[in-house]
Amino acid sequence: MTKHIFVTGGVVSSLGKGLTAASVALLLERRGYRVRLQKMDPYLNVDPGTMSPFQHGEVYVTVDGAETDLDLGHYERFTGKDCGRNSNFTTGRIYSSVISREREGGYLGKTVQVIPHITDEIKNAICSLDAPDVDIVITEIGGTVGDIESLPFLEALRQYRQEAGVGNVLFIHITLVPYIKAAGEMKTKPSQQSVGVLRTIGIIPDILVCRCERHMADEHKEKMALFCNVDRKLVIEEKDVDHSIYEVPLGLAEQELDVYVLEKLGLHVNNLRMSDWRKMINSLIHPDRGEVTISVVGKYISLRDSYKSIYEALTHGGIANRVKVNLKMIESEEIEKKGAARLLKNTDGILVPGGFGGRGIEGKIKAITYAREKGIPFFGICLGMQCAVMEFARNVCGMKNANSTEFAERLEHPVIDLMENQKDVTAKGGTMRLGSYPCKIKDKTKTRKAYKKNRVEERHRHRYEFNNAYRDVMKENGMIFSGLSPDGQLAEIVELISHPWFIACQFHPEFQSTPLKAHPLFRDFIAAAMTGKRKK
Ligand code: GLN
Repeated sequence: MTKHIFVTGGVVSSLGKGLTAASVALLLERRGYRVRLQKMDPYLNVDPGTMSPFQHGEVYVTVDGAETDLDLGHYERFTGKDCGRNSNFTTGRIYSSVISREREGGYLGKTVQVIPHITDEIKNAICSLDAPDVDIVITEIGGTVGDIESLPFLEALRQYRQEAGVGNVLFIHITLVPYIKAAGEMKTKPSQQSVGVLRTIGIIPDILVCRCERHMADEHKEKMALFCNVDRKLVIEEKDVDHSIYEVPLGLAEQELDVYVLEKLGLHVNNLRMSDWRKMINSLIHPDRGEVTISVVGKYISLRDSYKSIYEALTHGGIANRVKVNLKMIESEEIEKKGAARLLKNTDGILVPGGFGGRGIEGKIKAITYAREKGIPFFGICLGMQCAVMEFARNVCGMKNANSTEFAERLEHPVIDLMENQKDVTAKGGTMRLGSYPCKIKDKTKTRKAYKKNRVEERHRHRYEFNNAYRDVMKENGMIFSGLSPDGQLAEIVELISHPWFIACQFHPEFQSTPLKAHPLFRDFIAAAMTGKRKK
C-alpha cells in the first residue's frame, strides 16, 4: 500500500514548502524508496497556464503536456523523476470535474456539496499517484493554513488520515520562526497559532519544520514541542541556506528528518546514499575554474520566479563546468531605452528566454544583434528563438520589417507565424503545443556536439513557429536548421555557422536540467561563455 505524507504551511506564504517537500523526497529516495510528489493549489484557475508570469511565476510544463506550478520544477530537479498531470491539482480542476459529472447525471437525485463530493474528488486526486511501484506519495498543499480556500483540501486530508489509519499517513507542517531584531528574540507564537488552526480542523502535525534566519536554541525547540504537541526531536530547524537551495536536504538529513519519517510510517530505515549529491554541492560552492557572467534578457525580470527553471539550468551548467555563474537579469525594455552595448558590455553569454506578446521584443532583438555581431555566446529559448530568427531575417537577410504574426498583422515577411493546427483554436486554456515531442538532430552541428545523439525529446509550450517559406533564404545566409521534427516540418533548433556559439530552440530545455545532470545545451552554453571569456 502506498503511504502518504502531507505537507502544509503556516504563518506566511513563500516558506519554500516545495523545496522542503522535494528535499524530503530526495532523502527518502536515497534511502531506497520510490517516491512521487504532487501539489494541490487552492486557486480557481483550472491550471496556471492562463496566468501572467507576474502573477504566478513560471509555468512548468510536464512531459505529458500539463501546464503546472513551478514547484514541480523543484520536484523534478531534486528527485530526477518526471512528474505528470496528476502531480498538480487546483480547486478549479477539482470543481470542474465534479460539475461536469453533475451535468452528466453522475449524482442523480443528490445534492452536490463540498463535503463529501469535493472532498471525495480531492481524495481521488491524492490517490491518483498510488501504484504498486510507488512506496510514498508526498502531497504539498499550496497556500497557508487558515486561508478560506484551502479548507476543503485540509478537510480531505483529515478524512484521508482517518480512513487510511495511523502509520500510513504523516503530516509535516512548515512554519516560520521569526527573529525580532528590536527584541533580540526568536518568536514561536505565530507557529503555535498556526498549529492551533490546524488542530481546530482535526489535524495534528507529526513533524514541524521551522523556517528561520538564525539557529534555534534548545529552549525554542522545547517551547515549540510543548505548545504544538509534537516530540522535541520532531521539531526540525530549516535555517536559510548559505549558498544554494540544493543544500536544504543536507540540513534536514543532519537532523535525521528522513529517519523519523520512515519510523513514523513503519518503514525500514535503509542507509542514506548522498555522496554524488554532496560532491555536486561541493563543486557548486567551490568552483575551481573561475566565473562567467550570463545576461538573461527577459520581459518579466522583476519577478525572479518568472524564469526559475532558466536560472536553475544556468546554475547546473556552471556545476558541470566547475565555474561560478553570475546572473545578470536585464529587462528588455531597458535595452530599448539605453542600448545593448551599455547594458551588455561585461557579459560572457546572453540568453533570451520565452515569453508572450509584443512588449520588449525590440530590446530582445537588439540584444541578439549585439551577441551575433560581437561573437558572444547566445542561447535563445522559445520566444528567444523566434526573436533570433526575426533578427537574422532583418539584419542578415535584408528583410527589414521581418516580424512574427504574434506582434503585427499584414506583414511583408512573417518569418514567425501561427502553427497550422492553431489557426482555428480560440480557447486559451491548455491549447498550445504542449509537452514532449521528438526532435531529429543534424550531424556535424554544435547542437549535435552538445547532445551527442541524433534524436532527443524536449518539452514545448508555444503557438507560433518558424515559417518554412523562409527556410531556404535563411540557409543561404548561414543559418543551420540543426533540429527538426521527425517529419522535417517544424524547425525546432537553429544555429549560426559563423559564430562561436549561437543556438536557439523552440522548446524549453530548462525543464529537463538537474543539478546532477545539466542539460547538454546549458552545459555547452556555459562552456562557450568560458572559452569566450578566456579569449578576451
Ligand atoms: N509567444 C510565443 C508562442 O506562442 C513563444 C512562447 C514561449 O516563449 N513559450 O509561440
